Amino acid sequence: MRYLKLDLHTHPFEAMGFPDPSIDTVARIVRRVKESGLDGIAVTEHETPFYGFKAAEIAEEYFPEVIVIPGVELNVEGLSPVTHRQIVELYLGERVFRFQAHPYEECPDILALCQGIEVKNYLHKEMNSKLAEEAAAKLNLVPLRNSDAHRLEDLGKHYNIISVELLVDRSERRKNSNHPWMQY
Ligand SMILES: [Zn+2]
Repeated sequence: MRYLKLDLHTHPFEAMGFPDPSIDTVARIVRRVKESGLDGIAVTEHETPFYGFKAAEIAEEYFPEVIVIPGVELNVEGLSPVTHRQIVELYLGERVFRFQAHPYEECPDILALCQGIEVKNYLHKEMNSKLAEEAAAKLNLVPLRNSDAHRLEDLGKHYNIISVELLVDRSERRKNSNHPWMQY
């Protein structure tokens, strides 16, 4: 297994005002990824995996020295009567790894869908880390530390030392390849 420094929850396109994913815009992100000492990031813009998929495609072709995992951050309103209901999905080929982002309270219905949980989030410093650590241990979820960067300079403020193989091992098969982000 190859252990890498990966920040798995980032919003670099929102940080730049949502430009089209191009060689230039991905180059700006890649430069920052390298400056922050990361091996890679997951691009997890809100509600659309478009940026993640395009950025991953461009990075694979032009910047193979960094890892870009496509993903999305979804609101799961309606699942749980709480204030912060977010799930991040990471797309690993035909598989999806799902984690709860910045939990503030117990959400068993959300965790039932997840293979991981954030125990630290740089943007949501007031999240409930203790609860998240306990849930990770109890439910055997992968504990994650991410930046949730909405500014390029925040990429890598938190990161994981983790292997992509582990994420793939723990992931699920994607159910609907036409609408991969509508998993549940
Ligand atoms: Zn986020």
